[in-house]
Amino acid sequence: MNLKQQLLTNNDCYKAGAAMVPKGVMVHSTGANNPNLKRYVGPDDGLLGVNQYGNHWNTPKPGGRSVCVHAFIGKLEDGTVATYQTLPWGMRGWHGGSGWNGSVNNTHISFEICEDGLTDKDYFAKAYKEAVEFTAFLCATHSLDPMADGVVIGHYEGHARGIADNHGDPGHWFPLHGKSMDSFRADVKAEMAAADGGSDTREPDRKPHASPTPGRYDTLADMPQWAVSEVSRLIGSGAILGAGEKDADGYPADMDLSYDMLRTLVIIGRDKGKARAG
Ligand SMILES: [Zn+2]
Repeated sequence: MNLKQQLLTNNDCYKAGAAMVPKGVMVHSTGANNPNLKRYVGPDDGLLGVNQYGNHWNTPKPGGRSVCVHAFIGKLEDGTVATYQTLPWGMRGWHGGSGWNGSVNNTHISFEICEDGLTDKDYFAKAYKEAVEFTAFLCATHSLDPMADGVVIGHYEGHARGIADNHGDPGHWFPLHGKSMDSFRADVKAEMAAADGGSDTREPDRKPHASPTPGRYDTLADMPQWAVSEVSRLIGSGAILGAGEKDADGYPADMDLSYDMLRTLVIIGRDKGKARAG
């Protein structure tokens, strides 16, 4: 996974800033032939490239529509595939509309895979793999079971469940390359199992911390599972910055938080979520 962040702070959805407790992940694909992240994510951070038309989604109403997702998967300027976080995970997105059973916007983290002409097998394989790894990361950090009913769903599945408007994505693309949402969920589960088993072997790759303090937590990976969701939300919102050191996923690696601080953040986050919901 190549996860980066460029929050769409000018988008009306970001400005609304409604809180959401993630209960699942909705997979979208853009429905337009443009695999470049710079079409949707901006401004240029040196990796995305410049969107000469300025029509990315870091604007109040992209294309006149009230839309925003939590992430995009597509190509950087140099052609490599990356994921860009565009909303904090715990913020309500505007991506799936609603149906007779409510709105997926209230419950699901959402991401768009940038479509190309739908025939490039190499791009599809890379974007699909990135989406699997990214969804596995979201499920792990939010304690979600990708195989449970209604947790990891495509937009078209959300419509069938009565929680999204009538779109076919990504059901018009995955089957062209021998994949489906069923294979996607199975691949996410396998990725989570592999990441679990592989955590020991990945450890030596982590940079040693400059001054580790005993009894404190520097990285998301170090933290107890119950704290990861709220702390990643606070990283996403810009509240937790660290001093500059990053881990392999681009998150702060020097947060220096104690157990009691984690408890306090989770309790306050819970209370804030309740206040906003009311
Ligand atoms: Zn969609």
